[in-house]
Amino acid sequence: MKKLTRRNFVNGSAAALGATALPLSFGSALASGAAAYPPVLTGLRGNHPGANTHAHARAWQKDFSAGSIIDTSESYDLVIVGAGLSGLAAAFFYRQAHGPDKKILILDNHDDFGGHAKRNEHNVDGHQLITYGGSQTLVEPQNAGPEIKTLFEGIGVDLKRFDTAFDLSFFGEHGLGATTYFNEQTFGRNTLVRHPFCNYYNYIEGLPGAALSDEQAVAQTPLSERGKAQLLRVLKGGLQALDVAPEDLAGYLETHNYFDYLTQTLGVDDPQVLHMARHSGIDWSNASTEVLTIEEARACGALGFAPVAVYDEDHPYIHHFPDGNAGVARALVKYLVPGVAEGTTAESLVTATFDYGQLDRSANTTQIRLNSTVVDVHHADNTSDADQVLIHYMQDDQAHQIVARHVVMACYNAMIPHIVTDLPEQQATALGQQMKSPLIYTTVGLRQWRAFKEQGIGLAMSPGNLHQTVFMDFPVSLGGYRYTQGPDEPCVVQMISCPYSEVLGKPRAEQYREARYQMLGTPFSAYEEEVRSHLGGMLSSDHFDFDRDVASLTVNRWAHGYAVAGPGDSVAIGRQPHGRITIANSDSASEADAIAAMAMGYRAVTELSL
Ligand SMILES: Cc1cc2nc3c(=O)[nH]c(=O)nc-3n(C[C@H](O)[C@H](O)[C@H](O)COP(=O)(O)OP(=O)(O)OC[C@H]3O[C@@H](n4cnc5c(N)ncnc54)[C@H](O)[C@@H]3O)c2cc1C
Repeated sequence: MKKLTRRNFVNGSAAALGATALPLSFGSALASGAAAYPPVLTGLRGNHPGANTHAHARAWQKDFSAGSIIDTSESYDLVIVGAGLSGLAAAFFYRQAHGPDKKILILDNHDDFGGHAKRNEHNVDGHQLITYGGSQTLVEPQNAGPEIKTLFEGIGVDLKRFDTAFDLSFFGEHGLGATTYFNEQTFGRNTLVRHPFCNYYNYIEGLPGAALSDEQAVAQTPLSERGKAQLLRVLKGGLQALDVAPEDLAGYLETHNYFDYLTQTLGVDDPQVLHMARHSGIDWSNASTEVLTIEEARACGALGFAPVAVYDEDHPYIHHFPDGNAGVARALVKYLVPGVAEGTTAESLVTATFDYGQLDRSANTTQIRLNSTVVDVHHADNTSDADQVLIHYMQDDQAHQIVARHVVMACYNAMIPHIVTDLPEQQATALGQQMKSPLIYTTVGLRQWRAFKEQGIGLAMSPGNLHQTVFMDFPVSLGGYRYTQGPDEPCVVQMISCPYSEVLGKPRAEQYREARYQMLGTPFSAYEEEVRSHLGGMLSSDHFDFDRDVASLTVNRWAHGYAVAGPGDSVAIGRQPHGRITIANSDSASEADAIAAMAMGYRAVTELSL
């Protein structure tokens, strides 16, 4: 059987910042350089306000001008654009190959390093809660290539530790399972049913599935009688109802639309059942399911396809630091800038506070410069035979120039043609065709989670809400950090949104674009209101009061989230070396995957013509 991985579902396959209000009740507003220690910032994170301003201006304004440029006279062996896992790994591999005395500068437009590998901290009444705001878990790291194993060893990541750090019994012991929350606005009545109606929950190791039979669960939904009958018909599966010869079935599933199958083969016309179906793939499908083929819908366990285990016993989805893959990013930064924190292993860094003042010291051989958006990269004299590359970046509103012998572009590939101004046309076109889907990962610091316990909620699919799922954070205790042990202790809940267009059936790229605008234009207050109504409607008022129990709220917006491959061989054409410039980022692997992102950093370093 083909091995399923969470990221198999999303593999292979730009917006003016709108008004961004300050958090009403929570968090701290951000500006460049605002925080000495960014992980503690709450409110709008991920693409925090201001992070994309210069990049968007660069991409959209035909007559973009960086204004007067300060020549810093700084010169580096290697400049890396993007301090995500790919860029940080590129710096690791460059040092390994060429020695620790080489001068490296890593530039990133955010106020924190790690890119999607984002750490969120919540301080709940003096209790430090650590969680992730993006890249979540290492997928099957045992199968990673030798260069990644060398990297793990070099930065002190011990994969075996996760065997015991991840508490597989947590959900079962507390009676927490997979459920569905139907909200009043969409379904007429706030209702919780102890059945997930899809496979999405299955990647959370140790989380039990439905507590009810299909029939019992359907009876409890707030759907009309007609809707209930249709939902049951979908759940019972209907591929046999297709009038297709067995030998033609596989081909048929790969070429026919999932929603056509629901409506025409299974006769579903109830808008609420179709609404459930549309939101049953979330980031496994990386799109609203009406744009999927039947096979794609089946593979991601959308409504109507029986739950199947996602991982086999040899590859559990447990390689998760309390701060997700930010744990790897921090270990890389510690390797590159040793003075940034105390600790010798990735585990020992889990609870460490990093001194961000150490990141960009000229005395260090590797420097990480945050709040710095690169807007122009070109070979000196605009010839790829030149022995220098010029880099312009914006910090605040001021442009700066630096020079480097080599550059690795570890940022979003679609942005590169706007930045590298001397690219050959065919390569620029190919890079411009790469896509990323928007995502929102919201993290909520709760004072207690008794309502989750009493209602048996480990995860709740929420087809009527902006966040299509909400779940208890992964039960991982590591490096002195202890996951919540009981319902009267503080904890973090995660809320995930895969936003789509309001309009059914639009092509993926258009849906991404529309959702991205909407996401960036929504003020924090609206997100807060949405979370209030979501949790308030789902959880019993006997045990939950939003104002009393929610201590902090962080909305991680990722306008450019999962890598989605452009057409044909555009990925391979786009990532070719160009003179002294090479291309990394997970986009260049067309995989929304941390290990692939780091492997691309390795490839980009090996391709540098020294
Ligand atoms: C919400 C979310 C959850 C995910 N979960 C997982 C998971 O569980 N497991 C997994 O394996 N993968 C996951 N991924 C996939 C994720 O993309 C990879 O794991 C990995 O973090 C990508 O690293 P990267 O360095 O390629 O890109 P990024 O993390 O995007 O880093 C690129 C950096 O370059 C910066 N940049 C862009 N343009 C410029 C510029 N002009 N100047 C300066 N800097 C620039 C970007 O802002 C960013 O900080 C997730 C992604 C998202 C968005």
